[in-house]
Amino acid sequence: MPTETEVALERAITSHRHHSLYSDRAAKIKQSAVRDVFDISLQPGLISLAGGNPFLQSLPLEKLGGMAYRLITEQGLTALQYGGGQGTERLRAQACEVMAEEGIEDADPANVVITTGSQSAQDVACKVFCNPGDVVLCEDPTYVGALNTFEAYEVTVETVAMDELGLVPDELQRRIDEVRSSGGNIKFLYTIPNFNNPSGITLAAERRQRVVEICQDANILIIEDNPYGLLRFDGHPIAPLRAGNPDDVIYMGSFSKILAPGLRIGWALVPAHLQRRFYLASEAVTLCPPTLNQMLISEYLDGHDWRGQITTYRSLYSERCAAMLQALEDFMPDGVSWTQPQGGFFVWVSLPEGIDTYPLLYKAIDAGVIFIPGAAFTPSDDPSSKLRLAFSAVSTENIREGVRRLAPVLQQAMGA
Ligand code: PMP
Repeated sequence: MPTETEVALERAITSHRHHSLYSDRAAKIKQSAVRDVFDISLQPGLISLAGGNPFLQSLPLEKLGGMAYRLITEQGLTALQYGGGQGTERLRAQACEVMAEEGIEDADPANVVITTGSQSAQDVACKVFCNPGDVVLCEDPTYVGALNTFEAYEVTVETVAMDELGLVPDELQRRIDEVRSSGGNIKFLYTIPNFNNPSGITLAAERRQRVVEICQDANILIIEDNPYGLLRFDGHPIAPLRAGNPDDVIYMGSFSKILAPGLRIGWALVPAHLQRRFYLASEAVTLCPPTLNQMLISEYLDGHDWRGQITTYRSLYSERCAAMLQALEDFMPDGVSWTQPQGGFFVWVSLPEGIDTYPLLYKAIDAGVIFIPGAAFTPSDDPSSKLRLAFSAVSTENIREGVRRLAPVLQQAMGA
């Protein structure tokens, strides 16, 4: 819900004579529903189950502060200077160590491009591969930030159905055939195989190679977006699609969820034959990723037990997820169902078909809780009977209280 000032500002902007100068592309850029509720989520007393923010309170802030101070006072002339467009060699090598934790053993730092968050890697991928009207395949539902990027590049987004084991390979094949037979030029499959944002669903290990083979046979690239992969609650991470498939997958990683999103540092591991174009396109946007932030992350990775920090996060998020699942079990009316995430930040809640969760957001705000309506996560303009709940940044008590407040809002909508 925009504030009065925002409405006035938007009116002033759109009525200005320069409005007619907007490109078709700019005119299509939408504010994301996630950002929409960001301001509302700051209202005192409201419990936000909306934003997927990492819980930064458990970071070694004093230590990070000391590192930042030393970098500026002792190496400021480098840390505050422009750097190489591909990112520092040191951080690219360290990104390979992070990927090795998940089972990518053969990453070469020469093929890593450091970006300003993985969000900007998505933008670069579109810039490099997509002409207006080209087709991108993605899961339904998928990450709202990626949808916004696809839209800005005037890409046609076609979805592939998921079940509780993730992307359905036969559906993927069917959609490829369908899109191609109607003349669509498919460039890549964008997938979030681990703890999909927003659904929390993980692509089962036994499906992964089949998905890669289908795309290989169809000559379609895979963009594997994996910011949450190391945040698996139990057991070892499932090997990424990129492991064993160096030529067919662009893997995107991020320090946002395992360290801090405010540093805005992510990366892409790009097949060797595509690396140069990718890096040049990235450089054309940012010149170079932030030098100070890259150096700070390098210091953190070398000077702190980052694996231990991830273990802390895993148990914290696991506990919060369990609290959310228990609260849903205790408070939700019959007819509401939800996913059982193995990691990450989100639970995806389904109401009976035909109920639009968007108007329910305003009723929920009155009840003192917010969520993100499901329509944000799909390219279609149809109403959605789903909603996303995030457990990452909220205490277990508030998770329980938030779900308790939400339940009657849903119950009323269902007429139960
Ligand atoms: N991909 C997914 C699936 C995400 O959930 C997010 C952040 N919410 C991003 C990419 C963007 O991450 P970053 O902060 O690295 O730009």
